[in-house]
Amino acid sequence: MDVKALGWDPETLGEIDHRLVVAPYVRMSSYLKGSAGDVTYVFDLRATQPNKTYLSTGVLHSFEHLLLAGFRKYLSDNFVSVAPMGCQTGFYLILQNEGRFDEVCRVYRAILDDILTSDTVAYATPDNCGQADHHDLAGAKKLAQDLIASQNKWSQVF
Ligand SMILES: [Zn+2]
Repeated sequence: MDVKALGWDPETLGEIDHRLVVAPYVRMSSYLKGSAGDVTYVFDLRATQPNKTYLSTGVLHSFEHLLLAGFRKYLSDNFVSVAPMGCQTGFYLILQNEGRFDEVCRVYRAILDDILTSDTVAYATPDNCGQADHHDLAGAKKLAQDLIASQNKWSQVF
């Protein structure tokens, strides 16, 4: 797989030293080729600096919901899953057959722009969520604003 041709730094694939990274960034962490030629990609959106700062669980939870709604809206043919990192510093994204840096970042930006004008957190109801009263839309908007402001640094992991 030529990840460089997709716009990624090959040096940032796989295990990385969390003491050396500089958040925020977007990286491809791994990929898996299937026997039929399909490719599944895993990406990190690292939002806060590891072992220095972290997101509150309310922000992490609301952002998870908003990213889910956004990827379903903008990338429904490729979107598999998005999930918060247990360390509360970012999110995992899994896509099928879409691994281009420019496209991943274009969609992230579109979702972040949507979050800024959101009046509600998607799926934040008891039928859709396991802790429907545990959300922080204002905090999610602040995170979206911070990520937009630093978009020119997303490609730099180290
Ligand atoms: Zn939820």
